[in-house]
Amino acid sequence: MGLIKILPDTLISQIAAGEVVERPASVVKELVENSLDAGADFISVEIEQGGMKLICVRDNGFGMSREDSDMAFARHATSKIAALDDLNTLRSFGFRGEALAAIASVAIVKMKTRQSEAQAGTEIVYRGGIKESHTTIGCPPGTEIFVENLFFNTPARKKFLKMESTEVGHTAAVISHAALAHPTVGFEFKSNGKSIISVPPDSQIEARLLAILGRDFFEQSARVSFSTPSIKIHGFIGQPGMTAASRRHQYLFINGRDVADPLVARAVLDAYGSRMPGRQYPMFLINIEVDPAEVDVNVHPRKLSVKFFEPNRIYRDVRQAASQALDEYQKNIFANVPQMKSQNFTGSKMVQEAISFSQEFAGQVSEKKKRDGGLASDELSQNSMQILGQIANSYILIHDEEGIAIIDQHAAHERILYEKFKARTQSGAKNTQPLLVPLNIECSAQEATVLEKTLTHLEGIGFEFDKWSGNTFVCRACPAALKKENLAKIFREFLDEMLSEKEHGAVLPEKILKTMACKAAVKFGMPLNIQEQRELLAELKHTPNSSTCPHGRPVRVLLTFDELERRFYRK
Ligand code: ADP
Ligand code: MG
Repeated sequence: MGLIKILPDTLISQIAAGEVVERPASVVKELVENSLDAGADFISVEIEQGGMKLICVRDNGFGMSREDSDMAFARHATSKIAALDDLNTLRSFGFRGEALAAIASVAIVKMKTRQSEAQAGTEIVYRGGIKESHTTIGCPPGTEIFVENLFFNTPARKKFLKMESTEVGHTAAVISHAALAHPTVGFEFKSNGKSIISVPPDSQIEARLLAILGRDFFEQSARVSFSTPSIKIHGFIGQPGMTAASRRHQYLFINGRDVADPLVARAVLDAYGSRMPGRQYPMFLINIEVDPAEVDVNVHPRKLSVKFFEPNRIYRDVRQAASQALDEYQKNIFANVPQMKSQNFTGSKMVQEAISFSQEFAGQVSEKKKRDGGLASDELSQNSMQILGQIANSYILIHDEEGIAIIDQHAAHERILYEKFKARTQSGAKNTQPLLVPLNIECSAQEATVLEKTLTHLEGIGFEFDKWSGNTFVCRACPAALKKENLAKIFREFLDEMLSEKEHGAVLPEKILKTMACKAAVKFGMPLNIQEQRELLAELKHTPNSSTCPHGRPVRVLLTFDELERRFYRK
């Protein structure tokens, strides 16, 4: 008898699962895509123990008939294409017909499904690729899939899974991407019963952006809107200065497909030109719509990338779309300049904001007067205080009844953060914000030693860490006062400085807080919008010792009217 045998179907599926199902998040991605293909406008995802114990995806899509619910688990079974040519007009996410078969071969899968017009629904259970039952049941229209004990029969795979928080992070990323690509679809994501993402259906893209990526990106991004008869490119890109230390904040959707594409990323980066500092990456959310015949979607088993048939044209169009967005953004910034110079501020948005700001201050005069150690009592408490704006991207100019004050934005923010950190270590109150996607900090051996020594102090001010292998640390949460987007960079700079300290044998807590405050503070030379200027000043007002930074340099230089009169020889 010959040695060569055809492999049994279940084994083939398990081998295929190696490509399709890498971790719980890849199961979620496939199931969510199926729900989207089924026309659902609400998709809920629940996981337990990072998805290793349970993944449940529920949708209100069109469901399956009894017959199809069985076929769905067969290998290479799909309702989405019938011939290779169909890929040229494909609008669905699925087409390979292997996800359900692959998932069912490495887990226990229970599916309940019902078409809305059907009298009853169907429940079907698979264990390790073998069908266990197929019954008629009552259930709401749509489809609900439970995936239990993932990789229970492939222990080698299971070993590759990371800590629970890492797996939750991967799944959160999958849902974030889906939610950003499909604003009209509502999503709910829960981990161990706790809601992590919850966005309603029928949303505008702006609302999604705000909910998923946060206010910073929302306010500091330029709108991309570009179209020719053959391509539509729209979305948002970070304004110059709104950059990241990794490519993690790059969301690209091609005909709604969530993919990574180095060519598109390059085109956006090139559009910034000298507006992008070295070793930084643009942050963007870009949707590209092209004729499906222009892209080959069948180039990756998990459908994570695509291939363009005319890459040069795509590069050129994306680059142009991004440059236009950035130029437009800059033009709008400069449009404010004449108003600032014209002395008469009436009607400008800045003044409206300054006015409401001064009113805010008015209510707080008496409270402020009681405080000492802050800015001298009557400086910030005047009703008439106005922010005149930021100069040289480094100073905030304010004006009150006494004169003109110039605030060093970095020194001010450094003091604010330092005092917050100090108060927190003393009170023990945490005040942290969890990171939707935990940050991996890869350290050299030396850096790891330093980080280890500073960990308890960093935890004291609101960070939370896991250490998961060798010199990799995972940051799960950070102090509420920090910008989540900048964390990677903050850690880089923090470790650099701590390392350059000669006596890092004994890491002084004081030094840790000061260095963290310094690295996390807004930089000298960083543009701040009026809202950020207001917030900074409002916080400064409540900060003790606010006349100097933690290193003792002044936060503020005041030019009194008295002084001005002397200088102009009026006195
Ligand atoms: P593909 O998505 O590539 O077709 P899958 O294995 O993911 O392959 O799914 C197989 C088939 O099962 C799909 O083509 C679809 O007809 C059906 N199906 C899967 N999930 C759902 C769902 N949530 N709602 C309706 N039909 C579904
Ligand atoms: Mg599918």
